[in-house]
Amino acid sequence: MGALSTVSLAIDGGSPVRGPENPLPAVFPRDIPAAARPLVNEVLDSGFTVNMTGRFERLFAEACGMRHALCVCNCTTALHAATAAYRLGPGDDVVVSGVTDFGSVSCILWQGARPVFADVDPTTGNMTAAALAAALTPNTKAVIVVHFWGLVCDLAPILEVARAHDLTVIEDCCQTPLATYRGRPVGSLGDCGCYSFDGEKHLSTDVGGALVSDDGDLIERARRFAIARGGVPEPGYGRRHVELGQNYSYSQMNAAVGIAQLETLPAQNARRRERAALLTRLVSDIPGVHGPPVLPHTEPIYWLYFLRFDLAQFRVGLDELAAALTAEGLPGGTARYYLVPDSHTFLENRDLSHVPNAVGLLNSAYRWPWTDRYTEADVADMAGMVRKVAAAYRR
Ligand SMILES: *Cc1c(COP(=O)(O)O)cnc(C)c1O
Repeated sequence: MGALSTVSLAIDGGSPVRGPENPLPAVFPRDIPAAARPLVNEVLDSGFTVNMTGRFERLFAEACGMRHALCVCNCTTALHAATAAYRLGPGDDVVVSGVTDFGSVSCILWQGARPVFADVDPTTGNMTAAALAAALTPNTKAVIVVHFWGLVCDLAPILEVARAHDLTVIEDCCQTPLATYRGRPVGSLGDCGCYSFDGEKHLSTDVGGALVSDDGDLIERARRFAIARGGVPEPGYGRRHVELGQNYSYSQMNAAVGIAQLETLPAQNARRRERAALLTRLVSDIPGVHGPPVLPHTEPIYWLYFLRFDLAQFRVGLDELAAALTAEGLPGGTARYYLVPDSHTFLENRDLSHVPNAVGLLNSAYRWPWTDRYTEADVADMAGMVRKVAAAYRR
């Protein structure tokens, strides 16, 4: 920048685009629809005899375009219920994206199976069919496909590889409830979908999760493992425990909130998508900066929004760019901890040589939580922050 420059970065003492007096809207406190209150009261008035969880399971399965759902206390356990119900275990390899949350990996390890990390598309951070094929071993039994950031994976070629090798396909839809691939809700294209109702996720019931599938037997096996602790009733005796199960039960009160949240989800998703598309358009002419690419025939729903920087075009590194963006008022940071083999220090195999695209992307990305509360003016300010920081640090 020349001496005549009048715009000084907030990190250098200038005015931030959005300072503490007018910050961008935050994810919390969450809005709880008024419809939740009578439903919560119904649970309380019934003395816990109403089956609110069953009601939410039916409604959620229907919204996801599947026949059956099992609600559990979060998605880390929904994923575990899935790997247990598919009887994955010692000697089995399960391919999972190298860019994901702890929950997509712990479910494999709790079953005694081995996670094998697949690389991702260098621009989306999502697993590709080629990466899945490259990660296969003679022991591969399943794949956990993660729709990360709220972007939808290119499922058709992934399913083709999976079918050719007789793999079970578990879709981790924690960041994409009701996102679609070729018009169908994600989670309904593989064998089952797993969802989170955590406080920070799109549909929040404070905590919660669900396993959803067309396969009623799978859901009943998962219910036995995750709710009945592996027990089956035996008339005249009580019950026998036929496997080492868990109690991952969901609460009726949370389910009541879920029913109300589900009604508002489609409109919120549409708003998230629309505002994210606007931001991607607004930053598209800034050299060296890329918004999240959207695959054709998909409707993503943006849990996080991320920007990828061509670092060669800037005179500072990612951490300096990130600090400057945050100082301007963007509520985010880098996303390196999503590189599982790096951030999960207890893993046996932490070799990063098989996931170069994941390493490259997470070493050049800045991300922040996305919410349907962002207005067009907020989005315009975000683009202004990115433009300001990129201009100041351009080579
Ligand atoms: C949030 C999340 C999980 C875990 O969900 P919890 O409900 O927090 O246990 C798993 N996978 C992905 C991709 C997530 O984003």
